[in-house]
Amino acid sequence: SEAVKEFVRQGEVPAFPYFAAGQWSLEGDRLEVRSPIDLGTAAVTARPSVQTALSILERVYSIGRRKIRETPGEERVEIFERTADALERMKEDLVNILMINAGKTRKAAEGEVAASIERLRLAKLDVRRIYGDFVPGDWSADTLETEAIVKKEPLGVVAAILPFNYPLFDAVNKIVYSAIAGNAVIVKPAEADPLPALALAKALVDSGFPPEALAVVPMRGRDMGEVLADRRVAAVSFTGSTETGLQVIKEAGVKQYVMELGGGDPAIVLSDADVKQTASKIVTGITSYSGQRCDSIKYILAEPEVYDELKEEVTEQLSKVRVGDPRDEGTDMGPLIDVRTADEVIEATKDAVSKGGKVLHGGEKVEELGPNYIKPTLIEVEASRLPDLYMYNKEVFASLAAIVKVNSLDEAIALANGRRYGLDAAIFGSDVSKIRKAARLLEVGAVYINDYPKHGIGYYPFGGMKDSGIGREGIGYTIDFVTAYKSIIYNYK
Ligand code: NAD
Repeated sequence: SEAVKEFVRQGEVPAFPYFAAGQWSLEGDRLEVRSPIDLGTAAVTARPSVQTALSILERVYSIGRRKIRETPGEERVEIFERTADALERMKEDLVNILMINAGKTRKAAEGEVAASIERLRLAKLDVRRIYGDFVPGDWSADTLETEAIVKKEPLGVVAAILPFNYPLFDAVNKIVYSAIAGNAVIVKPAEADPLPALALAKALVDSGFPPEALAVVPMRGRDMGEVLADRRVAAVSFTGSTETGLQVIKEAGVKQYVMELGGGDPAIVLSDADVKQTASKIVTGITSYSGQRCDSIKYILAEPEVYDELKEEVTEQLSKVRVGDPRDEGTDMGPLIDVRTADEVIEATKDAVSKGGKVLHGGEKVEELGPNYIKPTLIEVEASRLPDLYMYNKEVFASLAAIVKVNSLDEAIALANGRRYGLDAAIFGSDVSKIRKAARLLEVGAVYINDYPKHGIGYYPFGGMKDSGIGREGIGYTIDFVTAYKSIIYNYK
């Protein structure tokens, strides 16, 4: 598209400048952006130094913060509408970037672009959650003849830190809710795939987003720590692993947080579930985007009456999943983002086998495609041994799941709640009283009944309990986390 041609510098490999709150720049260390398809260099961009980043932050803080607040809400909504139109025009470029840089299949890439466009268009719904309260003071003798207006005010500058798995949608989502609430935003994309956020910056600025109120800086994680610690950053919206999230909180200190952290979800299958349909949903939940989704299914906990049939059906369906180059029409599952994660799948499989687990499918690489391609992996394990497994205690970000026969719903709930994570859970079946019980007792942010977990565009709010996070993302719902209440108290005495 014209927009992408305009800002990408052509050379041996295309060079994507970063957006420094008003200007495009290639200043800093050269950053090679690789493709997980063949691990080769797909493009380059640059990493601003910490010092440069701090001077960008100064511009966002001193100019951008005011500019975004002075842009009427209605106009911000229109800017996002125009950005959605711009993304429509850039669609084919964005799909290609997502396939090449993030290793998504065409279908997954198109899905992410469509979700991003839809999210931009729904910015108008966020506006409806920026109300405040009027509090009369007739509560006590002390407050008689006083009253207060309590309003949600923007915080100033929000730092948005992105994971690699939704490099476009997550940038859109974090920028939309932060800016609709009146905040300027400094975005740090994941090192693996910074390009979609850079293309988005182009679309936003061309659509009238106040340029000083936005920066997209492809920095190293630890360098970003120094920016987060700065007092000019008021809030952090982070999506990534629990380990990195903890590090971010240590670095950033007393700030407001939206933390979308590690997950990996259980699917509880009740004795009266429709086995074929359940298996098909579970297989999608395990394999889509090669299991590199916080909400992907990692544990199947099935009641004894359906266990054998379900096990057979899931294994059978997994064997039909085609692993390959994500650009090929027939491919269901592309590569993993890096070799390290593929190696971790192999290690986690060995660990499970050493604890009595039996590999029902996968557990190995597809070497002819590359060292970061694995077969979807299913391991059968005894309920009593599941808590000993590496993959139960740490999220393995790949298509790797355990299948477990449970004696009762209570046992399934205990196994689901026994993990340090609590993002979402799925329940399949039709026994309403069991479903209600599970929905009430599961320590998670969302329970999906008769479907695999999928946060989608966040039309329903999502976010985790326990080590899976703080706060919620979702249209309208995140406003609470990027604003703070201010009480203005009138005394008439
Ligand atoms: P990651 O933790 O490796 O990196 C996330 C981001 O943090 C990257 O941009 C990285 O550069 C940055 N970072 C690293 N060290 C940092 C530091 N010291 N200070 C500041 N920033 C730092 O995660 P990832 O591999 O990119 O993404 C996968 C993870 O994200 C999984 O754990 C997944 O569950 C999680 N995730 C969660 C949700 C959710 O909604 N809960 C959604 C998507 C992904």
